[in-house]
Amino acid sequence: MTKQTLADLAVFGGPPAFNEILHVGRPNVGDRERLLARIGDMLDRRWLTNHGPFVHELETELAAFLGVRHVVAMCNGTVALEIAARALGLHGEVIVPAFTFVATAHALQWQEITPVFCDVDPHTHLLDPDQIEAMITPRTTGIVGVHLWGQACNVEALSEIAQRRGLRLIYDAAHAFGCSHGDRMIGNFGDAEVFSFHATKFFNTFEGGAVATNDDDLAQRIRLMQNFGFTGLDTVVYVGTNGKMSEVSAAMGLTGLESLDAFVASNRRNYDCYASALAGVPGLRMLRYDGQQRQNYQYVVLELDGAAAISRDDLVSVLHAENVRARRYFYPGVHRMEPYRSYFPHAGLLLPVTERLAQQVLVLPTGTAVSPQDIDRIAQLVAFSVANGAAISRALPDTRGAVA
Ligand SMILES: *Cc1c(COP(=O)(O)O)cnc(C)c1O
Repeated sequence: MTKQTLADLAVFGGPPAFNEILHVGRPNVGDRERLLARIGDMLDRRWLTNHGPFVHELETELAAFLGVRHVVAMCNGTVALEIAARALGLHGEVIVPAFTFVATAHALQWQEITPVFCDVDPHTHLLDPDQIEAMITPRTTGIVGVHLWGQACNVEALSEIAQRRGLRLIYDAAHAFGCSHGDRMIGNFGDAEVFSFHATKFFNTFEGGAVATNDDDLAQRIRLMQNFGFTGLDTVVYVGTNGKMSEVSAAMGLTGLESLDAFVASNRRNYDCYASALAGVPGLRMLRYDGQQRQNYQYVVLELDGAAAISRDDLVSVLHAENVRARRYFYPGVHRMEPYRSYFPHAGLLLPVTERLAQQVLVLPTGTAVSPQDIDRIAQLVAFSVANGAAISRALPDTRGAVA
């Protein structure tokens, strides 16, 4: 049913457009029989973790897929980032974007490395290389770029700066599994790249992650650090942690890899549906991916600017009432979360683009669980809400900041 009047909107008491909640990042699941067969093998072997055959097979397959020398599978992306930063000897200050998931900064702060927040490009939302030099101090030891929404950072400019200034360069590639830059897959850039295989990501192992690198020595240090620093049964050579991936996660990963093309195809179809259904809605920009690159199309990202008659937060309230769980990313910005907001209360002054995006960006549901028919209805809701934005905003109770 299309909405004809304001009273038809669920936020004002009408029936919701969807009976079931549509999520951003509902997990992609591969072939169930194949997964259960692998889990059966695993139970027969009674080899559940500690570098079992599935982890080994997954690492080998991932390295081949990415065209990279080393892939170390990890328990999650955050621990993978922590270990990569530590194995590279980062300390003091490290430059990072604030328009990212909080784990990018936490992985540093957790080991008392200070994240220094740098602004992003207004068009791509990626770390702005032109602003990095001004943030480098004698304490700076590295840069962590984030391949946001699966788009590659400006890796040429970042490498040039890192080399010239003697800095280490890590990429948080949590969004970018299956994406490319030029003729290489993401996973090959900087000193190391870190993936997340969390359930909500394009490719998942329930919880999981990986570090990819072409540096043999670094890969060796990362392997030791993820296993308590053990070099032999009774020999520990330095402090380590437990970053191991379990066999059941690797089984999920191996199964998911077999369906990767299908996951991309449904994301791509959804992205194209959104793009055509939302074209021409005033004040609304949909982030467009570079068609020359391999992409996973996992994120449908909208920006509502001042020309839209409705605010982003009011639109999110309307959509949530319809059971469309659109999400504000990365509200309010990492620099406005603790402990960073206490440490750097004025960080926002240097982050005007981040501050604006945190107010204007929303991400819409997609993935294998969302159909083109669903998308047509979501797009109609968005277009109707924008067209009637002023009236909706007047009629809504002041819920600013209250949406989940
Ligand atoms: C998901 C995510 C992480 C953290 O990964 P986990 O596997 O959940 O620990 C880090 N950075 C970004 C940008 C992410 O989206």
